Amino acid sequence: MRYYVETYGCQMNVYDSKKIEEVLTAEGLSRAARPEEADVIIVNTCSVREHAENRALTRIGELSLKAAPRKAVVAVCGCMAQRMGSELFKNRAVRLVLGPDSYSKLAGYLRAAVTDGAKLLDTARDRSFRFQASEGFRDWGLRGFVSITKGCSNSCSYCIVPAVRGPAVSRPRDEVLKETLAQWRSGVRDVTLIGQNVNAYRYGGTGFSTLLSDVAELVPEARVRFTTSHPRDMDDSVIGVMAVRPNVCEHIHLPLQSGSDRVLESMNRGYTRDRYRAIVSAARKAMPGVSITTDIIVGYPGESVEEYEETYSFFEEMQFDSAFMFKFSARPGTAASRMSDEVPRQEKERRLARLMELERRLASAASARLVGREMEVLVEGRKIKDGVELLTGRTRCNRTVLFRGASELSGKLVSVRIDSSKGVSLSGCLVSA
Ligand code: SF4
Repeated sequence: MRYYVETYGCQMNVYDSKKIEEVLTAEGLSRAARPEEADVIIVNTCSVREHAENRALTRIGELSLKAAPRKAVVAVCGCMAQRMGSELFKNRAVRLVLGPDSYSKLAGYLRAAVTDGAKLLDTARDRSFRFQASEGFRDWGLRGFVSITKGCSNSCSYCIVPAVRGPAVSRPRDEVLKETLAQWRSGVRDVTLIGQNVNAYRYGGTGFSTLLSDVAELVPEARVRFTTSHPRDMDDSVIGVMAVRPNVCEHIHLPLQSGSDRVLESMNRGYTRDRYRAIVSAARKAMPGVSITTDIIVGYPGESVEEYEETYSFFEEMQFDSAFMFKFSARPGTAASRMSDEVPRQEKERRLARLMELERRLASAASARLVGREMEVLVEGRKIKDGVELLTGRTRCNRTVLFRGASELSGKLVSVRIDSSKGVSLSGCLVSA
């Protein structure tokens, strides 16, 4: 039997899809290259914005048509499955609807669906959630994710994550180290510790900065990264570890969401502009040149033009290296979805477009500042550009670089002098390997 997995959304979903593939492989299934060739089609979905759900629903419709000739089992997993539940059975091809807490039972559900044609729904919250340790899956390539928490116990007023992923659960330290080592042995050279809010990690007496330091010590030749941070829970000890551990990369993804203290309070984010500024300046003092990226929501209910201007000016002051920017999208069941004073759609679009223009300008200025510098690059593969075959790699601050070199360098750390930049893309010349 063959399976086909399609993944939407964040790193947590990418990680979960790998776990799902691990379960299917252990069941003796092999991966199909195309949905038409699969006996099991799994769509791992996202609910963070309405748009994400609409895209997944359209795709489930398309995949159901492809599944019909082989009577393939269509399974919908992830956050939208958790939120919509049995509603998804309206699509007759859908036989499994599984929330993020149910994947350890996937094998049994699959057997039942395949043999008895059963329709199964499991969106139960698993209070004794156990992370699935993985020894064997060797499919990460050079860059791997290791989940350290699942769910989130914050309650940002616009966010659906706590409702679909449940309260935060921190993973045992030993399991995190075990999986990191398994990934290193399987060829991963750049590992990212992932969680909705990694700074809230706490298992027994181990907090996030200790875990980060332990992981860095365990795999000293691997690059170590982490995402996503939360300004309310971020503390100087994390910056301290980043500054002293040579293999922890100088990049912090620190969602700001808004530059207005009144909007931040309404969002229930738990920090102010001043607090945010203090974190960024502490990081830049400890690690000059550290890359700071962020997330911003524009058009939050009640956001005035003046408050939007506060976001715009603060964004400029922070000189972010890049950002993910979104129009507010009311999510069912969230506090913000019950707020009135909606910002008109056209105004939301105007605010987003203007901020994106600023982001583009700052991001390319940040790249231009790297021209002439020698940077450590992890060679990730080859790329054809203007008919020329080049190597592509990633800097510690998470930028991609193109340069000439031998393919044997793939997976190696090399030194590249940056010769030019175009927007956020960098080109350079190999200095040493
Ligand atoms: S920290 Fe806030 S925005 Fe992030 S996942 Fe948790 S509730 Fe959502």
